[in-house]
Amino acid sequence: MVATRVLDALRAGLCGRRLIVAAEGQTGVWLVGGAVRDILLGREPRELDVAVEGDVEALARRLGDVDALHERFGTATVSAGDCRYDVARTRSEHYPVPGALPDVRPAPLAEDLRRRDVTVNAIAVSLSDGGVEAVPGALEDLHGRVLRVLHDRSFEDDPTRVWRIARYAVRLGFAVEPATARLAAHARPGAVSGERFGHELRLSLGEDDPCAIFERLRELQPMALPEGFDPRPDGVAEALSLLPDDGRRDLVVLAACCARMSLDLLQRWLDHLQFPAADRDLVLAASRWVTGAPLRAANTPSQIGRAASGAPVEAVALAGGPNARRWLDELRHVRLEITGDDLLAAGMPQGPPIGAGLRRALDAKLDGRAAGRAEELAVALGER
Ligand code: ATP
Ligand code: MG
Repeated sequence: MVATRVLDALRAGLCGRRLIVAAEGQTGVWLVGGAVRDILLGREPRELDVAVEGDVEALARRLGDVDALHERFGTATVSAGDCRYDVARTRSEHYPVPGALPDVRPAPLAEDLRRRDVTVNAIAVSLSDGGVEAVPGALEDLHGRVLRVLHDRSFEDDPTRVWRIARYAVRLGFAVEPATARLAAHARPGAVSGERFGHELRLSLGEDDPCAIFERLRELQPMALPEGFDPRPDGVAEALSLLPDDGRRDLVVLAACCARMSLDLLQRWLDHLQFPAADRDLVLAASRWVTGAPLRAANTPSQIGRAASGAPVEAVALAGGPNARRWLDELRHVRLEITGDDLLAAGMPQGPPIGAGLRRALDAKLDGRAAGRAEELAVALGER
C-alpha cells in the first residue's frame, strides 16, 4: 500500500519518471526522507531524496547535471530542468564530538535509516523491487502527525535537529512528541558551528511562516536564539505587504526580529552565522529602521525622498506607513532628466554644488515644481 502510493506518485510526475528510468538496472536504490514523507502526506516534495546502496556517482550522472559531489559523505545534488535530486550513499554516522560533523562510512539501508533525525523521515521505498523499510513506529507517527527523534542522544549528536524539528512542526502542522520536546530542551545549540546554525536559520527564513518557526524553536530550546531576538515582532506583515518584488523577504523578517538587539551583538551574531557581507549589512541597516521616525514625519514628497533615498527597500518597508508605501510604489522611481554633466556644461564648477543642485532639482520634481529638462536645470542652477 505504502509502496504503491509512493511509486504511483513518482510515475505521475516528470521528475519521478526520470528517477525511475535512471534507477533501472541498478539495485539498492531507495526513495527516502522528505520525499517519501511528503508523498505520503499528499504534498509535493521539495526535491527527491534518494539513498543508494552502491554507486552514487553512476546514478547521479544518469539522472542529470551533477551540481555538487561530496566524496567524503558520498552525496550528490543533481538537477535536470526543474527537477532536483539529493542522492546519497547509504551510510552510518558516528559523532566523535557532539555537534561536529560526523565520521561516516558506507552501511546498509537499515543502518542509514537509524542515523536520521525523526521517525517520519526514516521511511524508504525501494525503486528496484517496491519494498518498504522504516524505523519502528515511523508509519504510525506519520499517521499521527508526530515528530519523534530516534534515540535519546539525537540532539547531542546534532543540535541542528532542534531547528529541523521546529521547521517541520510549523510547515507540516505536526506535534512534537513530549519526550522529544524534553530532550530538545537539553540540546546545546552552542555546540554547533556558526555556519551550520546559519544554514538552518536561512532555511527557516525561506519558509512560509518563519516567525512561527522561531516561536516554536524558542519553546523547544530557549537558548537557540540570542538575547533581544524577537521571534514575532510587530509590523512584519505590513512590511512584507509593502516590500516590492525586488526586495528580500527573508532579510526583512530577520531585520524585524533583530530590531531590539544591540548593533554590536547583531553584527557579531550575523558574522558568526556566516551571512554574506552584503546581506549582513542590509540586515544591520534595516533593523535600525523599524521606527521609521523621519520617514513617518515627512509631509511632502521631497521630505519623503530625503528620508528614504539611499536606504534599501527592505528598510523602508520596515518603517511602514503611508509614506513608505508612496516611496516604494511611486517616488523612488522618479528620475531627473538632467545629470551632473548638464550642470558642468552650464558652467557649474566640479564638486559638492553639483550634488546639491541635483538634489534641489529632484526635490522640486517630486513636489511638482519642476517638469522637463529646462525647469530641472533652472532649479539646479539656482535660477528659480
Ligand atoms: P525538505 O522538505 O526541507 O527537503 P527533508 O526532510 O527532505 O525536508 P533534507 O534536508 O532534504 O530534509 O534531508 C533529507 C533527509 O535526510 C531527511 O528527511 C532526514 O531523513 C535526513 N537528514 C537530513 N539532515 C539530517 C540531520 N541533521 N540529522 C539526521 N538526519 C538528517
Ligand atoms: Mg528533502
